Amino acid sequence: MTSHTCDVLIVGGGIVGLCLASQLLERVITSSITVIDKEPDLGRHTSGRNNGVLHAGLYNKPGIIKAQARVGGARRMRAWVEERGLPLNACGKVIVPPRPELDGQLDGLAEHGTANGATVEFWDEDQLRELIPEVRSASGRALWSPNTAVVKPFAVVRRLQQELQEQGVSFLMECAGWSAVPERRRLRLADGSMIAYGHLINCAGLQDDRVAHSFGAGHEYKLLPFKGLYWQLKPGCPIQPRANLYPVPDLNVPFLGVHFTPSADPTPVVSIGPTATPAWCRENYRGLQALEPAMLAANLTVLARQYLANRGGFRRYVHEQAFLVLPPLLLRAAQQLIPAVRAEHLELSQKVGIRSQLFNRHTQRLQDDFLCLPGPASTHVLNAISPAFTASFTLADLILNEAAPRMTLA
Ligand SMILES: Cc1cc2nc3c(=O)[nH]c(=O)nc-3n(C[C@H](O)[C@H](O)[C@H](O)COP(=O)(O)OP(=O)(O)OC[C@H]3O[C@@H](n4cnc5c(N)ncnc54)[C@H](O)[C@@H]3O)c2cc1C
Repeated sequence: MTSHTCDVLIVGGGIVGLCLASQLLERVITSSITVIDKEPDLGRHTSGRNNGVLHAGLYNKPGIIKAQARVGGARRMRAWVEERGLPLNACGKVIVPPRPELDGQLDGLAEHGTANGATVEFWDEDQLRELIPEVRSASGRALWSPNTAVVKPFAVVRRLQQELQEQGVSFLMECAGWSAVPERRRLRLADGSMIAYGHLINCAGLQDDRVAHSFGAGHEYKLLPFKGLYWQLKPGCPIQPRANLYPVPDLNVPFLGVHFTPSADPTPVVSIGPTATPAWCRENYRGLQALEPAMLAANLTVLARQYLANRGGFRRYVHEQAFLVLPPLLLRAAQQLIPAVRAEHLELSQKVGIRSQLFNRHTQRLQDDFLCLPGPASTHVLNAISPAFTASFTLADLILNEAAPRMTLA
């Protein structure tokens, strides 16, 4: 029994799936598009739980997909948000070295940024203090990125869904427990009905590896989730940075370090984080929610091996970032940027996200770049980690450039 037919079936209505639907329409590839999501409404996972920073393109080596997608993507997302009058804080970002020996990395970031087409300026201590009086740079130098902005990610997801619905895209919600029948280009839903499609695009975020495996794709990748908890400055705190404030990152690991982010609210709330703590399981946002003991045991083994082998400086990540969930360590990380921050200035934020980080079993390393893998009548978008929110419109175009020639429409 086939109850539904479409040209393109998108699994997962996060920002990546939504932008793909948008670009399928804009490029007139097809208007017969269905998005399925296992949740009753959108934005319950990473796209509704992230920091909303539109990154300007300083971190990635030129050439990789992340770098290609980030700068153009940030401009497009910002224009999209501005055209609709959605909340946006055009506050910029400043990056400082917390230790003197990290100063040289500012030059590397500036080089990457310039090569990627981003605008960057070197600042001295006076310029820095004018923006954020309490900030400390260990070398006195800082890198200023004027085009970094902050949006409200949940508002973006909801507005994009609404516009897609108005343009005829079908959304089937609470579609969990389906099984793939790739040889017949069908999904069998939990109630026994079928969806027939021409091409399927997997944008399932924290479940993307599982979905890919059910199509025989990406078996070398498994999810190694990391939890991002945030704290925030209390409303009465005398320190309220007006711009994003980031430390020079360790570019060996795909985490940016604890940073300060003013939100896009009329009175910005400044969050501090995220932690990058190994998560117990894929969707374990709180307490014992969604625990998967087998996955937890397997992932602990992978993490222990990474630590022992110290691949890509993994030990340094563990020492500096893995335990930031402990408030005194998070406070210490925050004080490296603003020494005057005290425990009494902080409160735990409600915001918590989990990073859909993949581990490559063949190379035994964390996957850094986004992946777009072909499968039977399908495309699998994997490892859509930060800055996939920033990059999503341009990332969608890059995916379609690769996938569209292989698409057989229903
Ligand atoms: C703590 C944190 C902070 C971040 N901050 C930033 C930032 O400031 N700027 C930035 O650019 N990026 C940021 N990111 C990254 C960004 O949020 C993600 O890259 C992006 O949201 C990924 O979107 P997605 O569509 O791939 O995944 P998701 O938003 O997770 O969407 C996947 C969807 O698939 C659905 N789904 C899963 N499995 C199935 C299934 N079997 N069947 C049907 N549906 C399914 C889920 O319900 C979900 O709705 C951050 C990430 C984290 C964790």
